[in-house]
Amino acid sequence: MYKYDMKSMKAEEFINDEEIKETLKYADENKNNLKLVDELLEKAKNLKGLSHREASVLLACEDKERVQKMYDLAEEIKKAFYGNRIVMFAPLYLSNYCVNGCLYCPYHMKNKHIPRKKLTQEEIKKEVIALQDMGHKRLAIEAGEDPVNNPIEYILDSIKTIYSIKHKNGAIRRVNVNIAATTVENYRKLKEAGIGTYILFQETYHKEGYEYLHPTGPKSNYAYHTEAMDRAMEGGIDDVGIGVLFGLDKYRYEFAGLLMHAEHLEAVHGVGPHTISVPRVKPADDIDPTEFDNSLSDEMFCKLVALIRISVPYTGMIISTRETPEVREKIIRLGISQISGGSRTSVGGYAEQERPHDTEQFDVSDNRTLDEVVNWLMRTGYIPSFCTACYREGRTGDRFMSLCKSGQIQNCCHPNALMTLKEYLVDYASEDTKEIGNKLIEKEIDNIGKDNIKELVREQLKKIETGTRDLYL
Ligand code: SAM
Repeated sequence: MYKYDMKSMKAEEFINDEEIKETLKYADENKNNLKLVDELLEKAKNLKGLSHREASVLLACEDKERVQKMYDLAEEIKKAFYGNRIVMFAPLYLSNYCVNGCLYCPYHMKNKHIPRKKLTQEEIKKEVIALQDMGHKRLAIEAGEDPVNNPIEYILDSIKTIYSIKHKNGAIRRVNVNIAATTVENYRKLKEAGIGTYILFQETYHKEGYEYLHPTGPKSNYAYHTEAMDRAMEGGIDDVGIGVLFGLDKYRYEFAGLLMHAEHLEAVHGVGPHTISVPRVKPADDIDPTEFDNSLSDEMFCKLVALIRISVPYTGMIISTRETPEVREKIIRLGISQISGGSRTSVGGYAEQERPHDTEQFDVSDNRTLDEVVNWLMRTGYIPSFCTACYREGRTGDRFMSLCKSGQIQNCCHPNALMTLKEYLVDYASEDTKEIGNKLIEKEIDNIGKDNIKELVREQLKKIETGTRDLYL
């Protein structure tokens, strides 16, 4: 008998290989059991989520009518929890020095033709000013793993620098961190530095595949990597972001593993992941994704996103510029709550006029500027939001989740989205974006539930027009 225990603190027990295989077998046996599929869809309507086994049955089901119902439900849930808001962010690459041997990543140690670069604090300032001038308020910092070149002190100094820069009306109000798995002590330091979410992609939950893809370096330790979020939470970080690099291994296995990880965090810490990211492997220097041969069709990718939305309704979902505008347009409505825009994935890329490619981590498929992305989102019916209020008001971890579960988001996030969009329009937008945005704000004020909040928002919007910044509820 195998040992699956979602409350265990051992990677091989809470992400148990046998349990995943059993789950996939159960899903195959039941994929045409339309009575069960209908019951699961009914259950999901209660907005309490689905287990990894239940969700895997839906993923395996190919009945066209039922699959359409999955999409419709995902859209409904997205609207219920996140309305039509989409939070904007940008990645900031600090350093591509790395001692790992990840087969899919161009920063791998053996890659000798990629120039290695680590930003100085002065260079970080330049990057941040360029990002502020675009209108960004929220960053995700990225770095390779290298204890000598990128020690935790470097990351902490960089965070301090980022928060300290106030250029014109600009400010970075939330720094999320995507760095390699580390110790409880270092997570505590990151928490003290005021980070938002700690993000770490599992890459693959399949242990054998993981060990093949990470042959050398500290990241080759599957258990240490998989247990990182528990250490982060022990270090006091209550917003963690998980994800799979889709394309490395079999997507059905990854999907079950991802949900088991979320179940584990909820069972042990009382709060599930704050976000789930769904990156797909991209071509990059010295990397040919066809080597992994587990690539995922756009259609199946959409189904995965819809089913994650249904299975963990309270968890934000992130999509990056790894995806084309066409794919982004399709899947945003199925459950995405955050997207990056105007991204550069090279070290020092924002301060350069031309998009540099030499130190890029992966090829970007959406090359539009932030203004173009904001414009497109609004034309497609979304409110681009630059809000960071929850984090700054201490509404993180279970406090954020209870806000989400109580449905109060509409009276809080919706006005905040409108006010931060207004800041963006006044300070950074092109004329066309401004015009569309102001009309959108006028229309969306009517969707604020309470009259007193409506009035308050109108007053705050006027204040923003006359120069006040950083207003939120
Ligand atoms: N170095 C850190 C670590 O080991 O977790 C994280 C930073 S890394 C810059 C961010 C993520 O980029 C990785 O976790 C991986 O999922 C993703 N990535 C690496 N190579 C990629 C590729 N060729 N295409 C798409 N995403 C890739």
